[in-house]
Amino acid sequence: MESHNNNPIPADGEAIQVRAGKFSVPDNPIIPFIEGDGTGPDIWKAARTVFDAAVKQAYGGRRHVAWYEVYAGEKAHNRFNDWLPQGTLDAMRQFHIAIKGPLTTPVGGGIRSLNVALRQLLDLYVCLRPVRYYPGVPSPMKNPELLDVVIFRENTEDVYAGIEWRQGTPEARKVIDFLNLEMGKNIRADSGIGIKPISVGGSKRLIRRAIQYALENGRRSVTLVHKGNIMKFTEGAFRDWGYELVKEEFSDVCVTEAEAGTGVPPGKVLVQDRIADSMFQQVLLRPGEYHVIATTNLNGDYLSDACAAQVGGLGMAPSANIGDEYAVFEATHGTAPKYAGQDVVNPSSVILCGSMMFHFMGWKEVSRLIETGISETIRQKRVTYDLHRLMEGAVKVKTSEFAAAIVGNMALPAAA
Ligand code: NAP
Repeated sequence: MESHNNNPIPADGEAIQVRAGKFSVPDNPIIPFIEGDGTGPDIWKAARTVFDAAVKQAYGGRRHVAWYEVYAGEKAHNRFNDWLPQGTLDAMRQFHIAIKGPLTTPVGGGIRSLNVALRQLLDLYVCLRPVRYYPGVPSPMKNPELLDVVIFRENTEDVYAGIEWRQGTPEARKVIDFLNLEMGKNIRADSGIGIKPISVGGSKRLIRRAIQYALENGRRSVTLVHKGNIMKFTEGAFRDWGYELVKEEFSDVCVTEAEAGTGVPPGKVLVQDRIADSMFQQVLLRPGEYHVIATTNLNGDYLSDACAAQVGGLGMAPSANIGDEYAVFEATHGTAPKYAGQDVVNPSSVILCGSMMFHFMGWKEVSRLIETGISETIRQKRVTYDLHRLMEGAVKVKTSEFAAAIVGNMALPAAA
């Protein structure tokens, strides 16, 4: 029997196939999961209950997921003395779509972050963060429901590429000498140095995915967010390459702000750009004008957390890391180790990751059921401790009870 990490592959499932960037999903896909460290097992148990119930309700027995446990983080370290075993990567490559809970970040040693390692090894170049409001969640905004954006953050380049040299090292000195002596710059000798690579290929493939998403999901605009007024050949180039891509590949379905003048022709997606600092104001002051955002790595990191905070849902926000061959859906919060095993934490982030995953797989009915179940449960104010302490008149429930309430509240909207 075939296995990874000594764990046999489920016999009742089939692998998802990917051809020319298209994911083809059988009725019984094998989906690897990493339950995660700390509170990960509590959360995964609750999330899986919700996922299985939603699939069953949507399709009867016609479709099901063959879940397949793979290991990373502390659990992998304890079992295999390896934070990210080769078997886990092999399984992710074989089955293409995976979901994971939070992982302990190893302190010291070779791996800086398991999440970053996975993104790099599988070339998951899009970090996808949808941000929307769930009625009832406490928010600092007067009208949090006006913000409904999907953020495409470039995931592999920029200052996150990890190309940097510590101040005072021979390497830093060598780079400074090169820049000062050969390139005519004037960098202080006592500087640390970091490099910000932004490529045309990396930018265009990210922006392409954002535009395709807007077209497929009826979103009215794509906004390129950059700091191009200052960093002209990286951030400014990101914007220019975005507009170039629109001309090359999307001129029949998109218009740019300059072309649109006062109105966007019906059915076309508006492509516009905003400077990053002004964008932070825009999402506060005119949130309804933004639908899909495509941006570089560092801007995207800041902007996605700022937007999530606006809807009161930093702890609930889901995310996905997507490439041409693989997609990994992951919680945005950490392992919250002090609550491990207590069945108290909020499982919404992983549950909403699952909703995104089913949407990505084309199982949109499942995604809608999960969204309805979670919205309704929060509207009823049956919430875990974290939301309970912020919501007046709420009933505090355990992680498992929250999942059971979601299952009880699932119903397909009439239009589905
Ligand atoms: P954390 O695990 O996110 O926890 C910080 C605080 O956030 C918790 O004490 C809790 O606040 C709240 N919280 C987090 N998840 C929650 C949930 N599901 N439900 C309710 N409240 C939740 O951050 P950390 O303590 O800085 O990090 C712990 C470990 O996680 C570290 O090893 C870190 O590297 C790792 N980490 C992993 C990821 C990832 O895998 N994606 C992300 C971030 C951090 P209260 O105590 O106030 O209730």
